[in-house]
Amino acid sequence: MMPELIKLSRSEIAFSGGRRATLVSFKSKSYINNAEVLHLTDKIYVVGHKSPDTDSVTSAITYANLKNALGMKEAVPAAAGELNGETKFLLDYFKVPYPEKLTDATDKQVILVDHNEMAQAVDNLNPENIVEIVDHHKIGGIATGKPIFFLNEPVGATGGIIANLYEKNGIAISREMAGLMMSAILSDTVLFKSPTCTPRDKASVEKLAKIAAVDPMSFGMELLKAKSNMSAKSAKEILLGDFKKFDFSGTKAGVGQVEVMDLADLAPKRAAILDEMNKMKEAEKLDMVVLMLTDVMKEASDLLFVGNDAAAAGFEKAFGGKLANSSIYKEKCLSRKKQVVPPLEGAFKK
Ligand code: MN
Ligand code: MN
Repeated sequence: MMPELIKLSRSEIAFSGGRRATLVSFKSKSYINNAEVLHLTDKIYVVGHKSPDTDSVTSAITYANLKNALGMKEAVPAAAGELNGETKFLLDYFKVPYPEKLTDATDKQVILVDHNEMAQAVDNLNPENIVEIVDHHKIGGIATGKPIFFLNEPVGATGGIIANLYEKNGIAISREMAGLMMSAILSDTVLFKSPTCTPRDKASVEKLAKIAAVDPMSFGMELLKAKSNMSAKSAKEILLGDFKKFDFSGTKAGVGQVEVMDLADLAPKRAAILDEMNKMKEAEKLDMVVLMLTDVMKEASDLLFVGNDAAAAGFEKAFGGKLANSSIYKEKCLSRKKQVVPPLEGAFKK
């Protein structure tokens, strides 16, 4: 006997996206597949970028939760590396379990959140196995073999985009999920100070904070404190905490960022950090390694640099200064995405 069919709303159909697209579902909510590669029992990993930050991890958790609510029961959250101190503090606070760690995507289906560049994605990912992408970064050249649901919006954090998707799909946001999405926005925008912050981000935080029942600015300060606690961290951990690779017209670069309440906290570790940057440059065969030491209170960054001569010339051109003691200090510089990566791209353009 045929199971009874129910109609999905238009948004559900649109939202189910790409290879999951189907016009009907059974009352059991298990979807009919496009008789393609997909095996019903397979997991679909929702995962952010390597060196996961709070937005990457919470986007994986909150988006997997939304997909589950919409019937994609096989969606599971994952993190592409160790969780940082801020993310652990946050998940502990809202009593949300840590996601599983995914460091090898061989034969795995994935939904990418908070990134869309292969260089930042989990290792051994086959672009053919990307089911969806939800992000807020520049489009970085992933080529898929078939159409997929790809949502990229120029806002401060992936968390706000996902909060909107809950709303659009009529799925209620729990206190825990609201706390996570709110924190992602506060973290990515450095409490609204980053130039990446938009009015939408502030509006999202206002709404989510009510559901999460916390005062967003004081909770944001707690997050910042958890993130910027450097005392127990080695130079290597500081460098790798939030590190991304880029290709600037053939110049291979790594650009990391560490945010602190006071740059003086990092001064004793500066020499060891530069040493780690040199090691990383050799080991990963990079032309340059940059680390933004960002003072979130002064809203300025000391841009540490190691690299070859050509890269140094490009770096000086990008930031309009001369390297002194392996760095250039920039006032009003908080965002890698908006204030560091674009000038570097411009300086190396051929
Ligand atoms: Mn991120
Ligand atoms: Mn983000």
